[in-house]
Amino acid sequence: MTLQRSPNLTDGADGARARHAPVVVGQSRFVRGELGLIATKDLARGEVILVIEGPTTSVRTRYTIQVSPTEHLDPRQPDGTPGHGHFLNHSCDPSAGLRINQTREAASVEVVARRDIRASEELTFDYAATEYTTAASEIACQCGAARCRGNLKGYRDLPDHIRAQYRAEGFIPGYLSRLGESAS
Ligand SMILES: [Zn+2]
Repeated sequence: MTLQRSPNLTDGADGARARHAPVVVGQSRFVRGELGLIATKDLARGEVILVIEGPTTSVRTRYTIQVSPTEHLDPRQPDGTPGHGHFLNHSCDPSAGLRINQTREAASVEVVARRDIRASEELTFDYAATEYTTAASEIACQCGAARCRGNLKGYRDLPDHIRAQYRAEGFIPGYLSRLGESAS
């Protein structure tokens, strides 16, 4: 199998950490006609695979990652082209989880292996573990997981037992738990 590195993703543009991230942008394994983030080596459960950085904005898009009640990280490189995080697709039973790190000055997001991942597998995360709600109202999920929830929705609509599972795994940021409580 040959994976082409996207011409937009020049080595190091994301910073030194991204240069060594064991991923490439390639054809998604399950979203037809879309790109995805593909592992280039076997990864162990718990491993930090890459760190997503970029400017934060108050506007949610289908590519941003919510990092606080009001802020969304836009996974872009300093020159404005999409960073690795832009290509991370959703699954209802994802291979990876996100850990949000936020300070007053900046936010970053660690992509952590949720289970052992084989080289050439696609990395996925669950939108509902970071997004309180979604940018679009109805998007049919194509993840194909046995426990696919059908439509892409946010934490607001995530069933309690899945919230509890992700929280136990460390993938529900504190602000989201608090938003969920105040909104329910
Ligand atoms: Zn799904």
